[in-house]
Parts: sequence; structure tokens; C-alpha cells
Amino acid sequence: MGLSGSVFRHLQKISGKDNVTRDKEELVCYSYDATGDLYLPDAVIFPGSENEISKILNLASKENLIVVPRGAGSGMTGGAVPVNGGLVIVTSRMNNIIKIDKNNFFIKVQPGVIVSDIHKSVEEKGLFYPPDPASSSVCTIGGNVGECAGGPRAVKYGVTRDYVLGLNAVLPSGKLIKTGVTTAKGVAGYDLTRLIVGSEGTLAVVTEITLKLLPKPESVKTMAVFFDSLQKAAVTVSGIMRNAVVPRCVEYLDEACLHLVKDHLKFDLPENSKALLIIELDGDTMGVEKDAMNIEKLCLSHQALNVIIAKDQTHAQKLWDARKALSPVLYKIATNKINEDIVVPIDKIPDLVQATQKIQKISGLNVVCFGHAGDGNIHCNIMYNKADKNESERAERAVDELFKVVLSLGGTITGEHGIGMTKMKYLPHEIGQAQIDLMKGIKKVFDPENILNPGKIFKIE
Ligand SMILES: Cc1cc2nc3c(=O)[nH]c(=O)nc-3n(C[C@H](O)[C@H](O)[C@H](O)COP(=O)(O)OP(=O)(O)OC[C@H]3O[C@@H](n4cnc5c(N)ncnc54)[C@H](O)[C@@H]3O)c2cc1C
Repeated sequence: MGLSGSVFRHLQKISGKDNVTRDKEELVCYSYDATGDLYLPDAVIFPGSENEISKILNLASKENLIVVPRGAGSGMTGGAVPVNGGLVIVTSRMNNIIKIDKNNFFIKVQPGVIVSDIHKSVEEKGLFYPPDPASSSVCTIGGNVGECAGGPRAVKYGVTRDYVLGLNAVLPSGKLIKTGVTTAKGVAGYDLTRLIVGSEGTLAVVTEITLKLLPKPESVKTMAVFFDSLQKAAVTVSGIMRNAVVPRCVEYLDEACLHLVKDHLKFDLPENSKALLIIELDGDTMGVEKDAMNIEKLCLSHQALNVIIAKDQTHAQKLWDARKALSPVLYKIATNKINEDIVVPIDKIPDLVQATQKIQKISGLNVVCFGHAGDGNIHCNIMYNKADKNESERAERAVDELFKVVLSLGGTITGEHGIGMTKMKYLPHEIGQAQIDLMKGIKKVFDPENILNPGKIFKIE
């Protein structure tokens, strides 16, 4: 392992001298992601094409060099962190939208395209790409494919995997494969497209992505619903999801979150507000008006304190700005957080809320919850000070307890952030050793020498 001078020179030949670096200052920039864990790579390369990636991996496989694919580094589980050193491949130069096919409802993009640029480009043409992680203004579509990202609109529209029709991907040997279709259907052989989506950069480096598009909804309505208890908000979410109307988003913010973002909201919080639901509906204009009235009625029947319907797009955007500000603003509470993107069945959200309150009490740490309640995907943030050994231990015990509760409620330890390195030790509790062994077998077929993003999802001895 490691990276010799001759390998470095070879990499310079492949991508050009300006596009490979081993300057310490630059290595640091590619040594961490949103987890804050830091491991220095040996070098970083910024390839400009699929062909270059193929040559890089071919060289890496011959030299037994570790390679870590990286988009924007906004991942929450250390997926792009070079935990074993090696070469980080950054896709930022591969950021072209190759084609938007209006007639056949698909878009072809390179992996380094920022997700909000996809949204803008297709919406200008009357089309719609639903997956919308809260990080969409910074994260790449390659990273979304790597993690199978979700987002608020997953309630109605599903996650990244539901929109990936096909991929170009380079295997660790350097061989290029083209999976999937550009048609609405296709079942030729095993579904390698869906296998690579969510594989956290451990099976192949994705170099081109074909995404399914939908017609852009005619109308969107956003509403803010306040409650004086977390339980009432949680019970209302189950009530909404049992209704015939499926909102495209049902986001939940607990009391601590509400106070952190109240300045962004631009309107006064009703007195005694302890929870907020941001609900968004879309469809044809008449239908959306009617659905909004039904949802308002339903929320009031669940004792909502107040329902505010956004007057226009600017007002709605304020609500989303507040929601999207949450992740970074949490650091006002404590210097560190462990963000767990657990999912429980929707009717178990009230039990989860109760359990997090208990965990908060026992651990003596703030456990702040917000997220995509409509599909049961709540982000539970355990706030602590990493430098304090006792707090760190309590935070770890809180995570253990949280995952135990989530699995006992029939949920999963990750809805969209993946396993990466931070959740590796918990994976056996959810899926068991037999499935892990099967996954290791798949990894070996793709990557016999274990050079592609090792130390993620599971350890290979
Ligand atoms: C404030 C904030 C809000 C967030 N909100 C959401 C949310 O609502 N929903 C959600 O799902 N996530 C969310 N995330 C997490 C994160 O943004 C997503 O996981 C996103 O998909 C990561 O994209 P990225 O470009 O930053 O990828 P990176 O972090 O760089 O990489 C993520 C993984 O993908 C792999 N990868 C990257 N590019 C490729 C490629 N070309 N080929 C193969 N593998 C590749 C990497 O190896 C790594 O395993 C949020 C993060 C932050 C910081």
C-alpha cells in the first residue's frame, strides 16, 4: 500500500499535473466529511473523464493502491473519508449535464453535478426530479447514488434508487460497465444498477448516471403546523399518513429545533409551541387547495395550536430555509453531535418520541430530533462534547440504546445516510451475520483485492 513517486507521476500523466496533489494543505481538505472524523489520504486526484477514472483504477489495481471515491464530502457516516489512506478520487471536474430528454423523461449526468443544479435544469423544462436531500445545494449526484440519498420529498416520491435508470461505472480493475436502461422498463439479468446504488463507493466508481424524470407538478402548497406537545405532533403524523392525501413532505421539528431556527421563520411562534410540522402538498391547483383544507382540518382535530399556510413561494422558502439551517445550527447546543437517521414504522413515531425523551433523561445529554417524519425517518441528534470523556461515553451509550429501541420497534438504523464507518459495529444487529457474509462475497466479486473504499459498511479481514 502507500503511494510511490512513480505511481504519483503516472497519475499526473493520466489527469494532468494540475489535477493531482499530495500537498499537505490540500490533503487536509479531502480528509473528512460531515462526521468531522479526519484521516489524511496519500494523494488526491481530480479526473476529467470516465476514461481517466478507468486508467486510475487500472493502475490502482496493479499497484494495490487504495482508492476512495468522493463527491462533495457532505456524507454523515464517513463514506468518503480515507480511513486507510490511499488516493481520493474527487468528481468535481466531472460536473456536466450530458442530456435532458424531454420526450422520454430522463436526464443523463456526470457524477460531480450538484443536485440542486439538476433540479433547476429540469424544472426550467417543465420536468421534475423529486429526490431533494436537505444538502442539495452542495452534495453531488454521485454522492446521492453512493448513499441512496433521500430527503423531505421521499414521503410521496421515494429515494434516489427509485430514479436511477442506469449507470456507467468503473470496476476496481479499471473495466467499464454500463448497467440499466433509458426506457421506462427493463429486466435484463440481475439488477446491478440497484445494487450499486447505496453501495457507498465500495463496489465501483460511478461515472455517468441516467435519472428518471416526472412532469413538474402544477401547484405546490406549504404549511406550518404548531403543537404544544411532541406526542400530539407525532400522533398527527400517523393520522396524516393514514389519510387518502399523501403530502410530498411531512417534516418534524422538536422544541429545541424550533427555538434554534425561530429567527429564520419570520413569524411569531404561537405561545407554548413545542413541535412544528412542515407539510407540503403538490399536484393540480384545485386538488392541492382541497387537500390543504383537509389537512388543516385534520391537524386542528388533533389539537394543533395553529396552522399557517404559506402565502406564496417566498413565504414557503422561508420555512424551508429554517428547516435546512437546522443541521449546522445545532452546534449552538454543543460542540459535537452524533446524527442518527433512524427510521421507524409511521405508527411507532409516538413510541420513538417517548423513547428519545427517556434517553435524554438517562444520558443527561440533549437529544434533538427533526426530520422526515412522513416516512418515519427522524434524525436524532445526540449533542455532546467530544473532548469530555464522560460525555463521549454517555453519548455512545445513548446511541446503543437508541438503536436497540429502533430495532425493537421494527425500524432500521439508517434511512439515508448509510453505514459508512460510523455505524459499522451496529450493522450485524440489524441484518445478521449471514447477510453480511453474502455482502462480503459480492464485494469480493467486484473488488477481489479490496482496494475500493475499504473499511466501510463491514471490515474485510
Ligand atoms: C446539512 C446536511 C443535510 C443533509 N440532508 C440530507 C438529507 O435530507 N437526505 C440525505 O439522504 N442525506 C442528507 N445529508 C447527507 C449527505 O448530503 C448525503 O449523503 C449525500 O448523498 C452525500 O453526497 P456527497 O456528494 O457529499 O458525497 P460524499 O460525502 O462525498 O460521498 C458519499 C458516499 O458516496 C460515495 N461516492 C461519491 N461519489 C461517488 C461516485 N462517483 N461513485 C461511487 N461512489 C461515490 C463515497 O465514496 C461515499 O461513500 C445531509 C448532509 C448535510 C451536511
